[in-house]
Order: sequence, then structure tokens, then C-alpha cells
Amino acid sequence: MAKKQPVEVTRSDISNPFVEIQEQIDAICEKANVGDTCRLRLRECERELIVHFPVKMDDGKIYVFTGYRIQHNDTRGPAKGGIRYHPEVTLDETRALAALMTLKAAVVNLPYGGAKGAVACNPKIMSRDELERLTRRYASEIALLIGPEIDIPAPDVGTNPQVMAWIMDTYSMNKGYSVLGVVTGKPIELGGSRGRFEATGRGCMISAQLASKHLGIPLNTARVAVQGFGNVGATAVKLLAQIGCQIIGISDSKGGIFNPNGLDVPKVVRHKKETGSVIDSKDAENITNAELLELDCDILIPAALENQIHQRNAPSVKARMIVEGANGPTTYEAAKILSDKRIFVVPDILANAGGLVVSYFEWVQDLQSFFWSEEEVNNQLRRVLDNAFHEVLEMSQRYKVDMRDAAYMLAIKRIADTMHARGIFP
Ligand code: GLU
Repeated sequence: MAKKQPVEVTRSDISNPFVEIQEQIDAICEKANVGDTCRLRLRECERELIVHFPVKMDDGKIYVFTGYRIQHNDTRGPAKGGIRYHPEVTLDETRALAALMTLKAAVVNLPYGGAKGAVACNPKIMSRDELERLTRRYASEIALLIGPEIDIPAPDVGTNPQVMAWIMDTYSMNKGYSVLGVVTGKPIELGGSRGRFEATGRGCMISAQLASKHLGIPLNTARVAVQGFGNVGATAVKLLAQIGCQIIGISDSKGGIFNPNGLDVPKVVRHKKETGSVIDSKDAENITNAELLELDCDILIPAALENQIHQRNAPSVKARMIVEGANGPTTYEAAKILSDKRIFVVPDILANAGGLVVSYFEWVQDLQSFFWSEEEVNNQLRRVLDNAFHEVLEMSQRYKVDMRDAAYMLAIKRIADTMHARGIFP
């Protein structure tokens, strides 16, 4: 592998994420020629709630946590988006993620707007009881904004089906009856959808299949590197290995591993379960996260956090195509560099939309109290992503723009049409 020093992310590579997305919205609104009303509305978040709330920890001490629930835009339907628990999460990051949800729902043509919630906390060092108390209190604090017809949360980084179960229960206790449709990504036994847990990773696999078919890259010999081994990355690795891809690199927050002849995926999964990380796996060389992004491979899947591919390391990315499993893993500057290098990128709002799509199926099933088989869920997911991929591809060919700009254009045009039809109240 290359011996040149790989470039680590530093604070100076990360501009304000909300300002960055505002700039992107400005640029795309101009390209898509949708007019200033749409641009000015999409630059801002419609509703923003900041909460500071106390939680009693196991040792009896009281900590005050800060949380957010941001509804970016609900023109096309109820606001929808996950809840993130992460120690460094900020208001502007949550705003940016909420805006991405509006665009994501529109690009896959779901009747939703976009939202995001977050609590600045470290779930990795909290006990289950502490997490439950934090979640129930946060759910009560944001209860005035959420509901099956208003705003429907789901899991994101640091949260999981159990956290969704506590939110559903807290909301239902306050209402006095069970409200299944208030959150998605729930455990199956309380109205969760089959296939939801794996949906984001499965969506990445489907995106990789669609893109490689378009580019003529045979998937059964493709070499894949995946950054992040949480829900999205681990599922994508598992499903891509099942269809014959060679997984040559995997990383998590502690570091990465590399084997040019392909990693033994079930062994890596077992090692991660036993030790908490993929590093020091047998038959693999330890590498850093920065090195993983620069591996010589066919498909790179950044499935960790934002801003991993930036202006300084983008020139060294060697993948032929990138499937963005995370939200915002590439800065806008870096996106331009990748585009100039002719690397085919399936952008986040399309590549990782699988979770949102199956969340939509879950919400529909909850509202109808009629549940689908896993096969039905997976087939419908493939149908929705297949349509969206080809609509974005068509847009990119028609306007001679890359897939990211095409996805944003398709989404923004759809939102602008709905805004136009609805008009301005009063
Ligand atoms: N957190 C996921 C995302 O960023 C899922 C959102 C949802 O299902 O509402 O797309």
C-alpha cells in the first residue's frame, strides 16, 4: 500500500456544516432555476427547539444535558429524521442534518419534510438506566413538536431500536394510549418494520449494485473499503461480501484493518464483538481511518461521520466510485475535487436513503395496523431506490452535472413545485 503520509482531518478542514449546506442550497437553487422564494425558505430551518434538561446519573449526581429538535421544512409532509446521541453534536450540525433530511425525502419522492434531533452526550459511557432516563426526559421535552402527523423521529448515530421504544412509550404514556407511528426504527414487537434495522446498509448495497452496473464494474470481483462499522457500515459489509465483493479494508472509531486479498468478514465481526474494535484482527494489517480513505479500491463507502473526505485528502482518494453511507461525509470543496477526478459518487441523500424509505414503510404499516413480510419490504425498497437512482442519473446527464448536484437538483425542484402549488399563507 501507499507509503505517503495520509491526511488526517483537523478542525480547519471542517467549516460550519450549516453554512456549508446553505451555500450548497444557494448554488443548486440557481442551477435548478427555482426562484428566490424557495431558496430563501430552504436556507433556514422552519422550527428549532433547544432544550436543557437534568438527568439523575447512577451515582446520584445530576447532570444537565443539551438537546435539539429541528424541523427544517415540512412543505411535502410531516417532518422526518433521526435522533443522534454524540458528545460533540452542535446546533448547527443538527440544522445541517435536518436540511439533508428534507432533500433526502424529496429525492426518493416520499411525502415527508426533514427534521433531526440530537443530545450532546456520550452513550458509550452511560449505563442502560442512565440512557433510559435521559431518553425519556428528552422525549418529554420535545413531545410538543413530535407526533405521527407532525414530526417522526428515528434512530441515528448513537441511538437504536431500544431508544425508539422508550420514546414511543414515553409519548404514549402522556397521551394515555399507544401511538405506534410516533417513531420509526422500533423493535418489531412494538410496531417496528421487518427489514428496518438493515435498511440503510441494504440501501448502500443496492446503490453500489446500481452504480457498478452503470459503470460496468463487475461487483463479484470488486474491492471494497468501508469506513465505519456501526449499523450502516457493518450491514453494508455483510451484504456486499454475500454478493461476492472482496472487502479489503474496514475501520471503526478506534482505527482500521487492511488485507489486499480480502478480509474474512465473519471473523472480523466476531473480533469486533469480543474486543469492541476491528483493530488487531488476525490476518490483517492495522491502518488508520485516514489511510483507509486513501486505499486503492473499486468502491469506497464512508459510513461513519461528516467531513471525512475534505479538500486536503480528496486528491489522494483512489476509489473508482464512492457510495456515501454517512450523512455529509464529503465537504462541498472535496466533492468538486472528486468530480474533477471523475470518481462516480452516489451522494448521501440517495445512497443512505434506505433507512428513511423503510422508516416510511414502517409508519405506513403502523397507521394501517397491517404488517408486511421482510421480502415485501426489501422488494419495495429496491423499487424506490432503483427509481430514484435512474431519475438522478437522468438529471445528471440532462444538465451535465455530477450525481450529487443532480440529486440536489431533483430534490429541490420537487420541493419548489410543492411550494409553488401550496402558495404562501396567509
Ligand atoms: N437517521 C437516518 C437518516 O439519516 C434515518 C432517518 C429516518 O428513518 O427517519 O437517514
